[in-house]
Amino acid sequence: MKFDKQKYKVYTWKNWAMLHWILNPALAINELILGQRVPKISLEDKTIDKPRIERSFVPCPHCETLHDSRTWATKNGTASKNWFGLYCRNCGNTIPCLTNWMSFLILALTSPIWYWFRKSLRAKWLAKQPERYENIDIAHVPNPFGEKNWIKAGLSWGAFMFIFMDIGFRSFQGKEITGRSLLVGIVLWTISGLMFGYVMKLLTNRKGRKKTSAV
Ligand SMILES: [Zn+2]
Repeated sequence: MKFDKQKYKVYTWKNWAMLHWILNPALAINELILGQRVPKISLEDKTIDKPRIERSFVPCPHCETLHDSRTWATKNGTASKNWFGLYCRNCGNTIPCLTNWMSFLILALTSPIWYWFRKSLRAKWLAKQPERYENIDIAHVPNPFGEKNWIKAGLSWGAFMFIFMDIGFRSFQGKEITGRSLLVGIVLWTISGLMFGYVMKLLTNRKGRKKTSAV
């Protein structure tokens, strides 16, 4: 698929935010458990003077439709459960997504368990998709990281990671949970959460080129 480079900035794995998705091992949880996915290619319209969330598009390589990225939003119930990729509601195919290295490793190690069921699992998942996209509302999707929301969104992510990693994963590993380990976890995930929220705020809010009036 070819894109108008004058109009769109094309994001691939070579962009730092996309690399972050691939490299941060904690995001394997978002990917494998929640089913949140990042498309391999996304576009940012440079010519619209609006927050980035309102001018980001995801191209479908099968039917070449440019989907508004808000098609996959929490408000629409479509931000998660996308284990097999982002569903294209125009042609019914799936849009290829990035894979976090930790997810890849976990999937590779557990492949003897799921490999034999992969086709039926995918078919079952695919059959459920059209229904999920029947009432997609793009106009009223709030930016979860806009205004002061980034603090709340970042801290919720941090809290989720804290419970999952420092309580869940630690007990799974048979490690003792101590006051010290909890304190370190709280500090670490609060800072990481705020950083995550702030980066997302910068990413989703940045405005495009302003229309300059002719002099
Ligand atoms: Zn399509």
